[in-house]
Amino acid sequence: MSDEISGRTAVITGASSGIGEATARTLAAAGARVALLARREDRIAALATELTTGGASVVAITADVTDRASMQAAAGRVQDELGGADVLVNNAGQMLLAPFSADHAEETRRMVEINLLGAMTTTEVFLDQLRDGGGDIVNISSVAGRIARKGSSVYNATKWGLNGWAEALRQELLPGVRVIVVEPGAVATELADHITHPESQENARASYEEVEALEAQDIADVIAFAVGRPRRVAINEVLIRPAEQPL
Ligand code: NDP
Repeated sequence: MSDEISGRTAVITGASSGIGEATARTLAAAGARVALLARREDRIAALATELTTGGASVVAITADVTDRASMQAAAGRVQDELGGADVLVNNAGQMLLAPFSADHAEETRRMVEINLLGAMTTTEVFLDQLRDGGGDIVNISSVAGRIARKGSSVYNATKWGLNGWAEALRQELLPGVRVIVVEPGAVATELADHITHPESQENARASYEEVEALEAQDIADVIAFAVGRPRRVAINEVLIRPAEQPL
């Protein structure tokens, strides 16, 4: 158990599955109080029950990162019920891959709203809590924030944008708040299941099967390591791929 995690309050968006769920389990096991945010109420409620039974302090908050009012309400509950956020993990995201010319305008806007503006809105509403005593903001970007590929243009743009915003924010908020970017390659989660463009869905599945994908726990371990460092240490950026993934 890291003393830098124990007793702190971690807010995790997209805690209902995949990387967010694994991160919630890992930080709770390390002694953090945890706020689980997502839209699927049944999933976060079940996870909260499991973690609470294990001895953790947990609240499940149904919230949508594209709905500012729901995020403000979430910030109010975290302040009232857990004493305010010390760690924010901006993890909620969608990867709705499709060629830009494939007429997916709604999905284009949805990805920008969730992956980029959602992280900004969440950070805005929790910023005062995070600045009160030294906080950490962990942004889950992607290898897609560093390498552009055809068929991934909008997802690339959201993660590229997240990286640029996070680096400027890091400079603005130091020395009190540490801003961390984690850029995973292929991780075995439900992320690709939501792709609606058939050929892109097939390509994504094939690329996940070409390599032994990372597990969500591998990313959770990186997040816990980064936020568990002594306050003099800032791990700013971590690129983590399956060992066999070429790009
Ligand atoms: P999942 O699909 O398992 O998780 C995505 C999470 O985001 C879900 O918990 C979902 O919860 C939440 N979410 C989606 N839309 C919203 C919204 N509007 N408001 C609140 N929460 C929302 O996939 P991963 O765990 O893989 O993805 C987590 C992050 O990791 C994403 O940002 C993704 O881009 C990134 N990533 C993933 C990689 C991979 O290969 N899996 C690689 C690189 C980065 P709910 O639907 O209940 O709201």
